Amino acid sequence: MHIVYASSEAAPFSKTGGLGDVAGSLPGALAALGHEVDVFTPYYRCARKVDPKAEKVADGAVPVGTEMAPWVLRRSSLAIQGASCYFIEHDGYFDREGLYSDARGDYSDSCSRFIFFSRAVLAASQALERPVDVFHANDWQCALIPVYLKLSLSEHPFFHSAASLFTIHNLAYQGLFWHWDWPLLNLPWRHFNWKELEFHGKLNLLKGALVHADALNTVSPAYAREIQTAEHGCGLDGALGDRAEDLFGVVNGIDPQAWNPRSDPHLPAAYDAEDLAGKAACREALLKRFKLPADASGAVVGIVGRLVEQKGFDLVAQALDELARRNLLLVVLGTGDPRLQERLEKAARRHGERIAAAFAFDNGLAHLLTAGSDALLMPSRFEPCGLNQLYALRYGTVPIVHAVGGLGDTVTDATEAALADGTATGFAFQEFTPQGLLGAVDRALALRQGDPAAWTRLQRTGMGQDWSWPRSAERYVELYERAKRKAALRSV
Ligand code: ADP
Repeated sequence: MHIVYASSEAAPFSKTGGLGDVAGSLPGALAALGHEVDVFTPYYRCARKVDPKAEKVADGAVPVGTEMAPWVLRRSSLAIQGASCYFIEHDGYFDREGLYSDARGDYSDSCSRFIFFSRAVLAASQALERPVDVFHANDWQCALIPVYLKLSLSEHPFFHSAASLFTIHNLAYQGLFWHWDWPLLNLPWRHFNWKELEFHGKLNLLKGALVHADALNTVSPAYAREIQTAEHGCGLDGALGDRAEDLFGVVNGIDPQAWNPRSDPHLPAAYDAEDLAGKAACREALLKRFKLPADASGAVVGIVGRLVEQKGFDLVAQALDELARRNLLLVVLGTGDPRLQERLEKAARRHGERIAAAFAFDNGLAHLLTAGSDALLMPSRFEPCGLNQLYALRYGTVPIVHAVGGLGDTVTDATEAALADGTATGFAFQEFTPQGLLGAVDRALALRQGDPAAWTRLQRTGMGQDWSWPRSAERYVELYERAKRKAALRSV
């Protein structure tokens, strides 16, 4: 199959979160299964830094409102593990400091930028003149790809038989804009209705994809179920429920090369499941880096992620004083909400011997934190999939998670039964409260202290699991086939 994989970020060129990791690794796994995969992503300033010599292969212009916006297509000199990568260049939209925002906040022209990107992906793929089986669009930034395919291009000779799969990486981000932006789409006003792209008087790009894509998926089976409920549906549970038959959950994989404690260049020592000795050196380096006492006996509990309420940082902030009473050292790495940062900073000052935080986006440090911690805390309020707990499992770092979405799907709680039958990999709590979190932390500390052999078994069980892409990539191929069948029915 020929798949066009469109994403607003793709590692190693650009990344603000899990989507960047996924777009940097799933296409390679699909290529390994014998498919032809072209990744399309913006030529941001940071992407240009990674690959300044991407070769120009086509150009053109697409309408954004009344303007014709010019695009240049560049082929990256760096293939993503067997998949080709193409950049859409438009310096006015993409040659900026951040991907979606700068120090002043979110860019005010986000709607135009991603209308442009979605249209340019379609136009550029046509310029390459190779028939496309499936357009795989990710998140609201690419949501208009399935919309245009269905509403504008269904009769077009190049596009009429192409299918679309839309992946929701996080339903909380919907591409919501005021209705005055509608003319930028160049679609008839009749599609601005509550069954299509209108949402409480606003324009909702993601909703358009939920309605018009041939198949939909999200990044874990539990999250696929949860988003059809009022509690986690972010107002779109009805629209998702209408597509229940076409909505699936596929757990993300991790890149086993980038995240491998045996060969990780960011670590001072290598280790694996057979020989965990190097993990102690990582722990020491981590504590040194965070200026915490390296000889402390307590468990090192790490947290890494965007500083937003979704990740449960507010819950951590509420539990901080209690956590500081436990025999543990807390190391936090994150960037985001300045108010959450301030709360964490204050706590770190109050409990300087036990809590330390770094507020930066630092990939090397994320690796060191994952390796050097004994446990990784991930108390997300909701979690579509989550990658950090998968990295932690591979690094012998026991995850402590809120049992929601992908966290519940990937971490097996250390109940007595799971410990006895050797399936336990971490600790999960049900109640999203400080008490719930502390209960799981206490169970983890008790096991580590009271039964070190059982703790090591837990580590090894997690390290022995395979969360790499091949299995999930096969699931994606099934979804592509399904989307193609649906598109074939549509085009007769
Ligand atoms: P999300 O996509 O919701 O942000 P995920 O757990 O799926 O969450 O993926 C987050 C990715 O971003 C992981 O690779 C994680 O290591 C990385 N990351 C998040 N915050 C930071 C940070 N401050 N420094 C380095 N890496 C980070």
